This record gives sequence, structure tokens and C-alpha cells, in this order.
Amino acid sequence: MDIRKRLENDLNTAVSRLRQMGGAVAVEELPGAIGDNSPFADEVDGIQACGDREIGFATRELLVERVNRLSAALERLNDGEYGICVECEEPISPARLRAMPEVQTCVRCQDRIERLGRQFEPVGVDALGDDD
Ligand SMILES: [Zn+2]
Repeated sequence: MDIRKRLENDLNTAVSRLRQMGGAVAVEELPGAIGDNSPFADEVDGIQACGDREIGFATRELLVERVNRLSAALERLNDGEYGICVECEEPISPARLRAMPEVQTCVRCQDRIERLGRQFEPVGVDALGDDD
């Protein structure tokens, strides 16, 4: 499995999708990969329900996050830390990495994080595979 190719490919796809969504965005917004302990920023709170527009924002938000995760994963690959959970430092299962090469936490930690972040349910997850 050539994980680097896969990551670079996914990164390119995510970045070009962001560009298509009308942002010169993306790369300038990258907050220096990881090192930021607050994955769920408060800025989203300001967005009120507003139909398609909200979905657009949410999708874009998800793409930005994906770009961040993918570039962080590439960095970890360069550092030889790829595949290690950033929370508990246990190896992440290969099956999980195949399914989502950009993950940086094991299933247990991801589960915990999702429980903590439940108030921030991404709206546009399902829309990602479905251009409209
Ligand atoms: Zn973990």
C-alpha cells in the first residue's frame, strides 16, 4: 500500500474541491497542521440556520479540516510517526488507516473525542460524495 500517494492524492482532491467552492482559501488557513488542541473552533457558532448556505459552509469547513488532517498525516509520515495515535500513542489499526488514511487517532480515542464534541455535529458529511 502506497500510503503517501494516497494521502497526496486525497489532499489534492480536497484542495481542488475547496478551490471550486470559491475560496482562494485553504492553504492560507492551515493553522500549522497539528499542535492546536482545540479541533472544534467556536467560529462556527456564529452561523445560523440558513438553508443551502449553511450546508455550503459546513461542507467547506469539513474540507478544510480534511486538508488539515491530510497534510498533518503527510508530515507525520515524513517524521516516521504515521499510524500512531496522537492521543494514546498506540498504533492505529491498518484497516482503519486503509479506510481513512488521514486519521490520527485510534478508534477508542476517536470515539471519546466524538463524544466530547457531540454538540458540533457536522452537517454536510453525506454531501461530500455527492456534488450538487
Ligand atoms: Zn488512541
